[in-house]
Amino acid sequence: ATPTALMVGTGRSAKMGILIKNGEVLEAANKIKTVVFDKTGTITEGHPQVTDIVGGPEVLQVAANLEVASEHPLATAVLDKASSAGLTPVAATDFQAIQGKGVQATVAGQAAFIGNEKLLDHYTLTPELTQQMTQLQNAAKTVVIVGRADQVIGLIAIQDAPKVSSAGAIAALKTRGLRTVMLTGDNDRVARAIADQVGIDEVIANVLPGDKASAITRLQADGPVAFAGDGINDAPALTTADVGIAMGSGTDIAIEAGGIVLVKNDLQDVVRALELSQKTFSRIK
Ligand code: ADP
Ligand code: MG
Repeated sequence: ATPTALMVGTGRSAKMGILIKNGEVLEAANKIKTVVFDKTGTITEGHPQVTDIVGGPEVLQVAANLEVASEHPLATAVLDKASSAGLTPVAATDFQAIQGKGVQATVAGQAAFIGNEKLLDHYTLTPELTQQMTQLQNAAKTVVIVGRADQVIGLIAIQDAPKVSSAGAIAALKTRGLRTVMLTGDNDRVARAIADQVGIDEVIANVLPGDKASAITRLQADGPVAFAGDGINDAPALTTADVGIAMGSGTDIAIEAGGIVLVKNDLQDVVRALELSQKTFSRIK
């Protein structure tokens, strides 16, 4: 490819909101075999909302107290719900964010937590709560467990809808013969339910933030991989992938790590970027 052809290609794409950092990125995009997607904020809107609370009124209060110091999107959902319920969070002390798991802190002198099953070492879920959690997860809702003083006090279900364009984009990628994979820190059932909604075939769930990059490396055994993501956690996977695609709405760290930035956060632009790459590199041989 001549430099001029590359500039034409990337200049036209920039007008569509597809920023391609350099010619090597555009060329690499033409060789991709697998496209891997982060879930929250990439396939989904990234605006999770509380839909169900299992347990008494103290569940939301304790949850809000725990989440007030957290920057996680799930924390925002809990705090919005608390605010609309007229609750005022009281900041917990000894706040500790545990990556990929949740939050632990002291609330009114008692140890408390909010997060997933990985935090359950000292707590147990009753069969009833386990069953309710499974049902909510099968309905594509992320469930966080709220515990206080060695007891689980309830569950909060949080929903984050797929972007309207996600299903169409996945279908277009599959038509092009590409393998599609979802990579997420969320629970397997929730991930599977959302993957089914958008037509993604493979799911790699329960991945701790530090393990996303090695998951990309394993997928590279079958050919070049593109990874689309938006979070701080996604930066190592974005740089490990042959083509890293960052959402424009993503964190600065993700945008920095991406070779392609999608200003409109629209997964159809993944398809457009691959098409552009193909056109550019077949026209100028
Ligand atoms: P993702 O891959 O979706 O960005 P993360 O690694 O950030 O996921 O989080 C994975 C899981 O850890 C969440 O689905 C949730 O169960 C739990 N978790 C992480 N942070 C929090 C928090 N602040 N409050 C509640 N749960 C949390
Ligand atoms: Mg994300």
